[in-house]
Amino acid sequence: MYITELEIDNFKSFGRKTKIPFFEGFTVISGPNGSGKSNIIDSILFCLALSSARGLRAEKLTDLLNVNTGKNTAEVAITFSDDTKIRRRIKKTAHGYYSYNYLNDRLCKQGEIVEFLAKYGIKAEGYNVVMQGDVTRITEMTDNERRKIIDEIAGVSEFDKKKDQALGE
Ligand code: ATP
Ligand code: MG
Repeated sequence: MYITELEIDNFKSFGRKTKIPFFEGFTVISGPNGSGKSNIIDSILFCLALSSARGLRAEKLTDLLNVNTGKNTAEVAITFSDDTKIRRRIKKTAHGYYSYNYLNDRLCKQGEIVEFLAKYGIKAEGYNVVMQGDVTRITEMTDNERRKIIDEIAGVSEFDKKKDQALGE
């Protein structure tokens, strides 16, 4: 399964509704410094609930709204190759914000999105997204720490956890 389309509306530097197509295989996004490349990755992490505001380089969730449009909502939608659509919207209010998650256009709890994606091995603690700086960190790790990452990616660590749990019972 891969992302076929990303739609960003009023999120960070994307003040205008922007559709970005993705194709199977390897895609490169290039552009000058500050042109919004990392914001595209941030929008994916936001939509799939894979990161906190801090991980999206924002102090609070409402900082993710574009600062120039004056609009009080931001929205990101992701379509996968099997036509699954995940959408997240935040709405700024006088008291804070509301966050809405949709799975195939049905309003749902964020937990449902997290559970759904976990079935495909897409998890916050997984290494689906390797952020700027992560590569250096990985090269500087001990062999044991690096092994843990490989176990996590291969899905072995989940069985280790279950095994430990079973042995403890
Ligand atoms: P680099 O090559 O340096 O990594 P980049 O292409 O990854 O750059 P980003 O970090 O994605 O660039 O984008 C940074 C730009 O996004 C900055 O110009 C910043 O002002 C703008 N930006 C961030 N948040 C917002 C926001 N809430 N509203 C409007 N613009 C924003
Ligand atoms: Mg960047």
